[in-house]
Amino acid sequence: MKIDISKRLKDLPPYLFAEIDKAKKDAIAQGRDIINLGIGDPDTPTPQHIVESLCQAAKDSKNHHYALDQGLDSLRIAISKWCARRFDIDLNPDTQVLPLIGSKEGIAHIPMAFLNPGDVVLHTEPNYPPYKTASILSLGKPYALPLKEENDFFPRFDNIPRAVLKKAKLLFMNYPNNPTAAIATKSFLRKVVDFARKNNIIICADAAYSEIAFDDHKPLSIFEIPGAMDVAVEFHSLSKTYNMAGWRIGWACGNAQIVAALGKVKTNIDSGIFNAIQLAGVTALTGPQYCIKEANEVYRQRRDALVGGLNKLGWKVPSPRATFYVWTKLPAGHKDSRAFAKLLLDKADIVVTPGVGFGASGEGYIRMALTVSKERIKEAVDRIKKVL
Ligand SMILES: *Cc1c(COP(=O)(O)O)cnc(C)c1O
Repeated sequence: MKIDISKRLKDLPPYLFAEIDKAKKDAIAQGRDIINLGIGDPDTPTPQHIVESLCQAAKDSKNHHYALDQGLDSLRIAISKWCARRFDIDLNPDTQVLPLIGSKEGIAHIPMAFLNPGDVVLHTEPNYPPYKTASILSLGKPYALPLKEENDFFPRFDNIPRAVLKKAKLLFMNYPNNPTAAIATKSFLRKVVDFARKNNIIICADAAYSEIAFDDHKPLSIFEIPGAMDVAVEFHSLSKTYNMAGWRIGWACGNAQIVAALGKVKTNIDSGIFNAIQLAGVTALTGPQYCIKEANEVYRQRRDALVGGLNKLGWKVPSPRATFYVWTKLPAGHKDSRAFAKLLLDKADIVVTPGVGFGASGEGYIRMALTVSKERIKEAVDRIKKVL
């Protein structure tokens, strides 16, 4: 039989990292001492009290059954209270909060709730890949809004063609931003809400890095903007905040009709999050929060070591105020992000992510993740010195 995959699968963008992935695997196989600055996953363990809570809950056979589609009451209440404490916003836990199997799950499923074939999904670019790929899988047409350094990595709305705007149903955006580490201002968020209301577009705000911030910066929720509740849903994740990437737990919150539509899609696809993980999520959200402060202090020190070290080499690298990424133009004399990443791997045994992998607007940049120890970061700076 001829196995023929669907047009939508064929339409997914090509995987750009095949060459560098192979080079990385070969380097590791050769026993070379690789410093991997390519990983978007916290390197320190989940705090012990959260792990303990899972162990307790896993032993209780009450938790071994199918979960409720909409999540446990206790988790939705904990999420609502956490958001109230953190952003001073008011969310009804029954209608405006929906637990997710990681925020990626909700991001990937929401286009199915709102797109008809040919509808447009606006998304900022460079971007977390699912905004684009999930839109294609739902037979939508992704339309990239480039984030340029000269615009503080905010998208421009004034040059989107009318025909595109008329077909646009969703807008994916992400602040604090992966990969650029840009942070949103209130005036920018007001502009987004105005734009969405005027054009009948649903804002899908990805807030995965809302708690990873430094230098007294406090990332905003879109719901701190009046009127946002008419048009927006926000995606949150426990992955980065509580070092729980492998656990798969997050949530969507916001406009009740939008949340209900996403819930309807999910009811037909999954059967909720393992109850023991939901209860551990309650522990994470309601327990001591100093783990967040501690992790941020670790990331800050690593950031200072990397950015300070590279700037001393004459490479002008900006210092991020949020996320655990450093996003920087290539050093003078380099233009091609994949070629530069290959050079760092070949000559310095360092893995970085080429900007072009996040979309065409990322060309000329690389992303370095602060998910290795300060000592290893210092070692990386020493090695880069020899290459530059
Ligand atoms: C890590 C990340 C997520 C979170 O994914 P989970 O599915 O919650 O683990 C979402 N958006 C962006 C931009 C990310 O980098």
